[in-house]
Amino acid sequence: MLRKRNTKIIATLGPSSSSPLKIHSLFQAGADIFRLNFSHGTHNDHRKRVFHIRQYEKRLGRPIAILGDLQGPKIRIGTFKKKSVTLVNNQKFDLDLDPKPGNEKRVFLPHPEIFKSVKKNTKVLIDDGKILLNIVGVNSEKITTEVLNGGKISNMKGVNIPDVFIKMSSLTKKDIKDLEFCLDLSLDYVALSFVQKAKDLIDLKKHIGSQTGVMAKFEKPLAIKRMDEILFHCDAAMVARGDLGVEMPPEEVPIIQKRIVQSCRDFGKPVVVATQMLDSMINSPSPTRAEASDVATAVFDAADSLMLSAETASGKFPVQSVQIMDRIIRGVENDNSYRQILESKKITLEETTSDAISSAASQVVKTVLAKAIFTYTRSGATAKRAARERPTVPIIGLSPDRITARQLALIWGVHTIHALEPKSFSGMIENACDLAKKEGIVKKGDYVVVTAGAPIGVSGSTNNLRIAKIN
Ligand code: PGA
Ligand code: MN
Repeated sequence: MLRKRNTKIIATLGPSSSSPLKIHSLFQAGADIFRLNFSHGTHNDHRKRVFHIRQYEKRLGRPIAILGDLQGPKIRIGTFKKKSVTLVNNQKFDLDLDPKPGNEKRVFLPHPEIFKSVKKNTKVLIDDGKILLNIVGVNSEKITTEVLNGGKISNMKGVNIPDVFIKMSSLTKKDIKDLEFCLDLSLDYVALSFVQKAKDLIDLKKHIGSQTGVMAKFEKPLAIKRMDEILFHCDAAMVARGDLGVEMPPEEVPIIQKRIVQSCRDFGKPVVVATQMLDSMINSPSPTRAEASDVATAVFDAADSLMLSAETASGKFPVQSVQIMDRIIRGVENDNSYRQILESKKITLEETTSDAISSAASQVVKTVLAKAIFTYTRSGATAKRAARERPTVPIIGLSPDRITARQLALIWGVHTIHALEPKSFSGMIENACDLAKKEGIVKKGDYVVVTAGAPIGVSGSTNNLRIAKIN
């Protein structure tokens, strides 16, 4: 049941993908992590999804990660009477403080602070910039705009006002409620939107114990300027190209994507490339070739995970989207150029036993043509260091800690297993060999490499490397 690829797939769950059967099909198609988007749906909706995932996980015996994505200080419009309307160029359209469902002429904008900050000729972008409005009049309750780029606009779509600084806290009241919910359900990662500085993450961590991983979403120009301090304080990062691409010119996004992915690898933090990856598959059973190429680029960049948003949450072809993404990833990873590109990216090692062992393991694998690296990891740190090397064989990450085992699902090349900790190092070797046989990755006479720490059970003590021959 091992996946035949290194790059992972995150599928966002929503109305198109919430039945137990759909969740199972998404996993079977290749989804390694499920994302709950707290910008949409009720706690009850999300709770049911988590329940179905955990039930399925139990049946499968394979850890599955769940990511709770907090909306953050994202500006959104309210809802429409008919769920969506179509705006026509040059018509007038009002954003106001009336919570009643909207129509072709107006919609609720539940952020009074904006009405004070904008002026005539300020541009307002809606739905990842697809709709462009120009403000022609404003008072304390109503913003009147003229539609410059019209189109279909639906409930709760995001709003960006790139030219204006709007002072909002990084963790809104809604985020705090959603965060409590995430912690209650022991989600594995929590993502924070619109991170602008390290303090946003430090503040978030005050609400969280050490177990839940914190993912920083890069979607503001300011966050790009402070990339290092933000990466230092997070457990994982996301190149959130939807909002990033609205807040910054499109020509900068591909370069920033490469910079963030490379910096994350330098820091040894997993990184997700997200948004619009197979956007046309929301309505079509096959992607555009340009989308296929975009997915391939993120794989060549050596991102840990690629994310599907509306494609799986509300699109017509959720399972097909995952299948196509899986095929594109495997296509790239099986091409010789992939290895060449990975190896051309130099990484520097830290002066730690963990890095010494991890880089040695990658080397040993090539020398004895071993079939896998087994890492026993309590906190997940050793598996992350091993993955940073982007080795040529699967990394089997074994952890006695259930949340660690789940969190490893996000990481490049790591096949994660929740396993009891053997009492001795020789027990570990035996276990690893048995598992390798059971998973069908080895035959008699093959080698595997095992890394672990001694004393057993102490985090951060990786100091053993063993080459084991399968009998
Ligand atoms: P969102 O984040 O889907 O929550 O907006 C991702 C992005 O902005 O790309
Ligand atoms: Mn976003």
